[in-house]
Amino acid sequence: MAHQLFLLPGDGIGPEIMNEVKAIIDWMNANLDVSFECDEGLVGGSAYDAHGVAISEEDMAKAMAADAVIFGAVGGPKWADVPYFARPEAGLLRLRKDMGLFANLRPAICFPALADASSLKKDLVEGLDILIVRELTGGVYFGEPKEIVTLEDGQQRAVDTQLYTTSEIERITRVAFDLAKTRSNRVASAEKHNVMRSGVLWKQVVSKIGAEEYPDTPLEHVLADNCAMQLVRYPKQYDVIVCDNLFGDILSDVAAMLTGSLGMLPSASLGAPDAETGKRKAMYEPVHGSAPDIAGKGIANPIAMIASFSMALRYSFEMIKEAEMLDAAVAKVLEKGLRTGDIAKEGDTVVTTKEMGAAVIEELKALA
Ligand code: NAD
Repeated sequence: MAHQLFLLPGDGIGPEIMNEVKAIIDWMNANLDVSFECDEGLVGGSAYDAHGVAISEEDMAKAMAADAVIFGAVGGPKWADVPYFARPEAGLLRLRKDMGLFANLRPAICFPALADASSLKKDLVEGLDILIVRELTGGVYFGEPKEIVTLEDGQQRAVDTQLYTTSEIERITRVAFDLAKTRSNRVASAEKHNVMRSGVLWKQVVSKIGAEEYPDTPLEHVLADNCAMQLVRYPKQYDVIVCDNLFGDILSDVAAMLTGSLGMLPSASLGAPDAETGKRKAMYEPVHGSAPDIAGKGIANPIAMIASFSMALRYSFEMIKEAEMLDAAVAKVLEKGLRTGDIAKEGDTVVTTKEMGAAVIEELKALA
């Protein structure tokens, strides 16, 4: 049976980079023992222009029914003044919420050919491969009360609430341990158990799940601020880092910049396994936005988008061989010196989005 992919290219460079993924899917369907069927919808500003909302109910239903959603990027100055409920990001938030995507996976992989592009010394980042697992639907971004109130003396007081339940921590912990088993089998939990009650509970629950369900996977606890420091001191000490929504937001950005450019960074967001089929709802997207400054010029780096599709192969379809092949094709293209503008330095061959995508397919042919 064919796997159902729902493509949401979005705005700005979204459709340009998604075209390169479509070409890779076509190539895989024709040349490998895989079968994908793609449907495509509108999200963000493009959905607003067509339907007056950031995602239509019809497209939302297709996203819910798909085996995986492949998402480009949304937003841009054209939609700066649309009503708040219909702003482009509302489409992304609706997808995350309705699909129950509570686990955000952000790998930070440093391709040897790009080690020079990192702000850290080459030997610290060459071959780096860490995975940050961030809780995405709870914590301080969602906890109530969340308000700014005016006090009797005329001052204002702002409140955000950091809030986690046992089950919320348990399910993200299991995702982190399960993924560690497919990698170097080590988990670090970053929390602030020294000053936050939610940190105390977080540490307790992660320790319990680790000891009872994953006794063979080493677990360490690291204070979140120390984790940030360790990431820039010696990042290769980590394999999988699990953390709450707020710390994950910050630590994943720190880890991201170790690898060079925004145009290289994929992500995956996963939901709970279905009770009957065991399959998780999932959405795969580059970390970057719609890059309005370069949209329409055909010069965007498609690698973050391609690497996001590779994560779909790995995590939604267990096509490890195919995912490794695609990752190897990207590494090979970089090794040969092909660069889009964002990752080019003097003397490099600067290529367009299409040329980069075509070069990846050439390498796939060589590897097949
Ligand atoms: P951005 O990530 O779009 O761009 C930041 C910078 O990085 C720009 O100079 C851009 O040209 C460059 N860049 C990003 N991706 C690139 C790529 N693949 N290849 C080459 N260069 C690339 O962030 P921004 O400028 O802050 O935001 C632009 C729009 O995107 C805003 O409307 C914002 O709300 C939206 N946004 C959307 C998402 C998303 O869809 N998930 C994420 C972040 C920002």
